Amino acid sequence: MENSKALRTWLDDHQLDHPLVIAGPCSAETEDQVLDIARSLKDTDVNYYRAGIWKPRTRPGNFEGVGAIGLKWLQQVKKETGLKTATEVANRVHVELALEHDVDMLWIGARSTVSPFIVQEIADALKGTDKVVLLKNPVNPDLSLWLGGIERLYKSDISKLGVIHRGFSSYEKTKYRNIPEWQIAIELQNRFPDLPLICDPSHITGKRDMIFDVSQTALDLNYDGLMIETHCDPDNAWSDAAQQVTPEKLVQIMKDLKIRKETDEESEYKSKLGNMRAQIDVIDNNLIETLGKRMKIADEIGQLKKNRNVAVLQSKRWNEILGKMILEGEDHGLSEEFILKIFKAIHQESINHQEKIING
Ligand code: PEP
Ligand code: MN
Repeated sequence: MENSKALRTWLDDHQLDHPLVIAGPCSAETEDQVLDIARSLKDTDVNYYRAGIWKPRTRPGNFEGVGAIGLKWLQQVKKETGLKTATEVANRVHVELALEHDVDMLWIGARSTVSPFIVQEIADALKGTDKVVLLKNPVNPDLSLWLGGIERLYKSDISKLGVIHRGFSSYEKTKYRNIPEWQIAIELQNRFPDLPLICDPSHITGKRDMIFDVSQTALDLNYDGLMIETHCDPDNAWSDAAQQVTPEKLVQIMKDLKIRKETDEESEYKSKLGNMRAQIDVIDNNLIETLGKRMKIADEIGQLKKNRNVAVLQSKRWNEILGKMILEGEDHGLSEEFILKIFKAIHQESINHQEKIING
């Protein structure tokens, strides 16, 4: 990966004045559905038309894709609208069929990226291709697995590479379908600044209302493009109904997004500053979320104390926490004074919560 600058050329060749846009349905359902959506995206900012043909589903018994017939529909899309096409491949046979049907962009899904065997099989089947290949992050938050996949593809002489950040699954329920864990993508971007980075807000959020905000964060973090699931009748889509937007909505989203350009020195400064501020915003949001979680547990402890009729304040436990946190803080370059201030405030909030519970 020494010459990673070459990785960007496919993206720069497009000479876009906006982020790269990949849009289209989660799944190809029927020929009419595929063509209707494509026609509505024809004269928009969309560069690549996506449609899943083979659908990896978490549980069996759901719609698993139309299969190879969908590739003919994508060919028809290209012929009729001029849009380049994109689909997911998950094994050697998929790759061969997609190449035979001249699909322009192939992506490897999050469930495939977790398996080095599968990524290697796909990399071998793609050897030397001039098609664009994008690797989604693995479902689990593991940067090396993601990097390892990129290395496998790169070693297979695939030069038009990129990555898609689609978030990470967790057992815990959050407002996201897949937690973004922005810091993982930012670290990848820092290591390979020339590897095009695309955000998939559809699979991160799982909800169409949240797509704009996540897309804006991605652009503030200097992402190169967006992949947004788009369907003419989202509510009746055969897969991922809640997260798909209409073509009209997609156009509106693209219009409303603030796009930063880095051309001269001034804008490079601004874009660096914007990038760092976006990182701070992400961390601040995480802080609030974490504090909220901490208070919820404090509430549960309050309930337990109430049931056993125990006092709210337990100084011994509190002094232990404080001592540990002062040492922990030192390791992270945080002063004792700061740790004391912040933990006193947190502790006071916990006491307030617990008192409320105990006194009904
Ligand atoms: C998809 O893009 O439709 C898809 C299945 O995504 P992921 O691999 O991110 O779950
Ligand atoms: Mn989907």
